[in-house]
Amino acid sequence: MFSRTEELAIREDVFRWLDERMIDHGGYELSRAVLSSYEYGGVRIPLLDRGKGIRNPIQLSSTLSIMTGWKKNPYQDSEDESGWVTYDYRAGDGGDNTKLVRAWANGDPLVYFRAVREGFYLPYYPIVIAENDPVRRHVRFPLDPGLGILGDPLSLSYTDIQRRYAASIVKTRLHQPVFRARVLHAYDGACTVCNLKHSELLDAAHIVPDADERGIADVTNGLAMCKLHHAAYDRSLMAVTPEYEIRINAQLLDEVDGPMLRHGLQEMHGRTIRLPSNRNARPSPDLLAAQFANFARRSASVDGGGF
Ligand SMILES: [Zn+2]
Repeated sequence: MFSRTEELAIREDVFRWLDERMIDHGGYELSRAVLSSYEYGGVRIPLLDRGKGIRNPIQLSSTLSIMTGWKKNPYQDSEDESGWVTYDYRAGDGGDNTKLVRAWANGDPLVYFRAVREGFYLPYYPIVIAENDPVRRHVRFPLDPGLGILGDPLSLSYTDIQRRYAASIVKTRLHQPVFRARVLHAYDGACTVCNLKHSELLDAAHIVPDADERGIADVTNGLAMCKLHHAAYDRSLMAVTPEYEIRINAQLLDEVDGPMLRHGLQEMHGRTIRLPSNRNARPSPDLLAAQFANFARRSASVDGGGF
């Protein structure tokens, strides 16, 4: 067993290590294999438990991580729209629960892993457990420290300003990372336009922007795109028809510039995007049509000027 100071040092080291892994993976999901490879002082300490949601390494006096497994709908069950997680410890055994309750009592920072698909996780850290309910046998914590400042929505009623603030944090901390992981996975981690495969250079583009009412964070409203094609798409310099054909803005097609313009954009005109093999993950033709209408309207109204 380590001293308290060393325990906190291990936790800090885990967070640093996760920062590095997230950079390596372009802010993408992490596999169970990667999460099992963490070492401290030459000793391997897997960050997830094989059979349980609560990870209690023998070296630590309280819980190191909590995991929510793969579920069909990521926004149901334990997480609510307020960005707070209710974690049930009914199923665990006595020893696991003792360490979980101790993490709450000590205010120990830990990691929350949520599965985005079987065996792949997004980490949230540092998490501090805000509440322990020994009667219902669950703990509650916010996914972001900013939400903790607002207080638990179950015991307080938020003002409109607080509700909007909470909604914006939930969008950036919960919905967008899950959207990104799902879209990049659906497209096998490659740009749907040019097939570039470097995850550090890839984004999950919204077909209909998320500011729009229809701009949902669902994989059918997403396209995996490299930074160049994402920017071109968002600025209507490029579009995708409901038949999945790539169109480049007419003015841009006539421009003369270096190889990036020629190979990166002009040569994409008329090609077909690479579709996800999973039919359910393919882009919605209705959403593509809505966005393509914007592109066509802008191209017509600009008619050779304005870009
Ligand atoms: Zn691309």
